[in-house]
Amino acid sequence: MKIICIGRNYVDHIRELNNAVPASPVFFLKPDSSLLIRNRPFYYPSFSSEIHYEVELVLKICKVGKNIQKKFADTYFDEIGIGLDMTARDLQDSAKQKGLPWTIAKGFDQSAPIGGFLPKENFNDLRDIGFHLDLNGKTVQTGNSGLMIYPFDDIIAYISKFMTLRTGDYIFTGTPAGVGPVKVGDRLEAYIGDVKLLGCEIK
Ligand code: MG
Repeated sequence: MKIICIGRNYVDHIRELNNAVPASPVFFLKPDSSLLIRNRPFYYPSFSSEIHYEVELVLKICKVGKNIQKKFADTYFDEIGIGLDMTARDLQDSAKQKGLPWTIAKGFDQSAPIGGFLPKENFNDLRDIGFHLDLNGKTVQTGNSGLMIYPFDDIIAYISKFMTLRTGDYIFTGTPAGVGPVKVGDRLEAYIGDVKLLGCEIK
């Protein structure tokens, strides 16, 4: 199983981090050891002093595919959920400055909390899925799949040119604006529509 994450997929988030709008999707990987499931707590790691949350819609891949055509892309996932792309922003900024990979900043243990999933059939329009993240009961990020630069089918077609998608893989589809730091004692809760699918305490 692999976790593929799209970066820079919402214009408002690209602006808040002073990045450029990409000419094609940007993606990176997290290892399977980064998964954090069943609403278990996230333990603040000692190697960073700036851990950020990034709430993202997550696709669960349901069959093997390579070179997938856009028009068939939606047959390759059957569930949509929500996850947090936890990021050691201090390590990422230093890697960016040196032109080095983001592997540690994005792929450390517990950096991929994933909540519950909903069947794809539950959604009338895949280009209109609203989601949000609450930090200690206050909404800090609000997104909608309709605002993605690269929608689900573009993402799947692009990734599968380079990497075979397999059953059980996850795709994090990018975060909207409002990312920010967490501290010990914080509580994160992520929703698709009004349905709470993920809770995570920072310890
Ligand atoms: Mg992200």
